[in-house]
Amino acid sequence: MKIVRLRRISMNIQISNFKFQISKYNPLEIEPKWQEVWQKSGIYSPDFDGANKPFLDRRSQNFRGKFYNLMMFPYPSAEGMHVGNMYAFTGADVYGRFKRMQGYDVFEPIGLDGFGIHSENYAIKVGRHPKEQAKISEKNFYRQLHATGNSYDWSRTVETYDPDYYKWTQWIFIQLFKKGLAYRKKSPVNFCPSCKTVLSDEQVIDGKCERCSSIVEKRELEQWFFKITKYADRLLNGLTQIDWTEKVKIAQRPCFQKRFMA
Ligand SMILES: [Zn+2]
Repeated sequence: MKIVRLRRISMNIQISNFKFQISKYNPLEIEPKWQEVWQKSGIYSPDFDGANKPFLDRRSQNFRGKFYNLMMFPYPSAEGMHVGNMYAFTGADVYGRFKRMQGYDVFEPIGLDGFGIHSENYAIKVGRHPKEQAKISEKNFYRQLHATGNSYDWSRTVETYDPDYYKWTQWIFIQLFKKGLAYRKKSPVNFCPSCKTVLSDEQVIDGKCERCSSIVEKRELEQWFFKITKYADRLLNGLTQIDWTEKVKIAQRPCFQKRFMA
């Protein structure tokens, strides 16, 4: 292969005797055009009812069946996405595309995790009610996520601040409460005076808040707790059965043990 000429607006490439030209790539023209085609044809909206459990089709040597390609949903904790979001989502999307090329029916959902401390802090910062801010952030986040061209199923999105969604997290909480697995008690906690929130041990780095670097205080506060200690052995033993790298498993073990000794 020999590159004959490289100009600013076009490239002539010669491979053996075959010569072709690549026109200037104009993302504003090409990308929305194809994203609209994908959207209309529904190629990223798999048929759930028709999807089987994954299996290897011996005749074609392709995999068939459903594949759930889930990534962490962004927190709308700013006006728009940051590069870190795309760093994580692009890798996951490449993997989803790879599985699709192997023959799977890939379901790649997307949504917004906007019902938590990051979003609330942002709403406080801009002086708007979180409910109002969530709708504003949603519009821009979805616009940006659309523009990335990742193969999300836009017919099945979820927002954690939608009552239709959080009625289920509330339902789960009630079940835990009924079983005595959710309870209140006073306990010393890590408290960030700037974020005005309780932090987990993992969110405190050298005595400072991981988000804003304020000095974290110890406060005696009435808190809700989940009785995860009840599942210590099962969690530790279960680590041997999951398909994670050894490095990640090693990192998890002391995390469980430290919690359970406390
Ligand atoms: Zn903080």
